[in-house]
Amino acid sequence: MNGLQISPFITSLPKVELHVHIEGTLTPSLRWKLAQRNRIPLPYATYADLLESYNVLYNHRKELHGDTGAPTFLETYFAGTQVLCEEDDFYELGMAYLEKAADMNVRYAEPFFDLQAYLPHGIPAATVLNGYMRAQREGAQKFGVRSNWILCFIRDRPVEEGIAAYEGGAALGGRDNGGSWAVSRGGAG
Ligand SMILES: [Zn+2]
Repeated sequence: MNGLQISPFITSLPKVELHVHIEGTLTPSLRWKLAQRNRIPLPYATYADLLESYNVLYNHRKELHGDTGAPTFLETYFAGTQVLCEEDDFYELGMAYLEKAADMNVRYAEPFFDLQAYLPHGIPAATVLNGYMRAQREGAQKFGVRSNWILCFIRDRPVEEGIAAYEGGAALGGRDNGGSWAVSRGGAG
């Protein structure tokens, strides 16, 4: 067994996932698909080029490892959010994660989500939340993974932007769209 394989014992254990940033679960294949669907230009001519761009771990901190021109982890993370535009996009991302979670025998999850990555681009909070909350409901039925969702704040962005994100989400209410979500505070990122 190599270091990338998970033993059947571990796979079969029931689990909870308490810290997962949903945007970070966006796979290259879903990113490519949504970019085509939403006509969002990517700086990669082919899917193979996009895949290659994910080879970034060595370059996580440019101040330590130098700038090779490859995107860092966070640059890739935020670039990925640019292909998420429509309610169905957020729904598909949520369902893809919950299906993967079920494969790992995760029974309960608390996915984190950003609003600040979308509101400045004119994507309403309702688009994001309605998509994720639909995935929350259907994911529980289809995959047997219950979840409560947590609104995150991006700490290196202006406070006003964070307040707008909070107010945009709070105006919808955690229960009005049939879902349940909360706000993280004081988290360590
Ligand atoms: Zn985190």
